[in-house]
Amino acid sequence: MGELDEGTTSGAPRRFGSMSEVEREPGFLPDNPIDATNYRRLVGYYRFDEEVACCYRKSTVLCHEGHRFGFVAQLADGTITLVGNSCAKGRFGVGTQFDIDRRTLENRRTLHDRFGRLAGLVEQQDDIRAMLASERAAVDVLKARFDALCLALGRRLVDRLEDMARTGQNTVSIRGVTTIHYVDDDGVHRTEHRKVDHRVGRVAGLEIFRHGAFATIPLEMQGVLSALDEAVAMTNSKKKVRDFAVARLLAILGDHARVVKSVARLNDAFGQFKRGDGVPLCYLVSTTGDRLRSAQHALRAQGHDDSESQARAFLSAIDERHRMALGAQRLEY
Ligand SMILES: [Zn+2]
Repeated sequence: MGELDEGTTSGAPRRFGSMSEVEREPGFLPDNPIDATNYRRLVGYYRFDEEVACCYRKSTVLCHEGHRFGFVAQLADGTITLVGNSCAKGRFGVGTQFDIDRRTLENRRTLHDRFGRLAGLVEQQDDIRAMLASERAAVDVLKARFDALCLALGRRLVDRLEDMARTGQNTVSIRGVTTIHYVDDDGVHRTEHRKVDHRVGRVAGLEIFRHGAFATIPLEMQGVLSALDEAVAMTNSKKKVRDFAVARLLAILGDHARVVKSVARLNDAFGQFKRGDGVPLCYLVSTTGDRLRSAQHALRAQGHDDSESQARAFLSAIDERHRMALGAQRLEY
């Protein structure tokens, strides 16, 4: 175990878990007044289930406020007493010996708690490493499926989907255009294009197309693994442990569940995209080849035969349906 060394003191500050433990401390006196003038040193801190009366001296009387958390102190005459948490923090001036000692003790307590949690994570390192390896394998499988999907959709459609993922725009719209020829009141032949916009649908699961969606997960995993290695080295080392170093490792390691969530989120997004009926995709690209690929994807998504002839029929059918719905001669998309 690494040393929790803070110069002259080491290890956890002493904790009193019950009043009887404090009462057994040699020199303990009940209702023993403490203030900055008779304070000598801190013995430790207490944390009880029930409240005990604070012995801070307020002019001629004791504070006597009940506290579950506070400090056990030795006075100049060698006797022992208690001071509650709020008096300990608020009544001894900043920079007094009591104030300095209390802060030192609290820092040691925080560091010791954190170090304990870090050591707990190091004990679970086999589980954490196994979990990361299995998540890594799951990401690789998902990435391979995603790459195959992109290949099937074609570069131009994937580019459009990446744009949509970047801007957060997930709806696909088309415009129905009808050209009307007529003669106006002055006998002039005129042409008017009537345009009606229409929302074809929404593309779900776009997150999978977000730039770096796959790249960040292995980095996060690597971060956790490196932090784990550092934590193992730290807990095996005899060197002094720095609070910020422990806090940093805890922040990375304590969050290893986030990696699992990232993988789950990508899996969900992929599933949502694949479950979509695929119709909106057919209006994100305009060349015949690209549209046929989109239509084939839509047919597969709907569990149908994805032959090219089926894809052509599918495109004609959806285009016709939208034209009819919009009462338009042609569609722009
Ligand atoms: Zn008090």
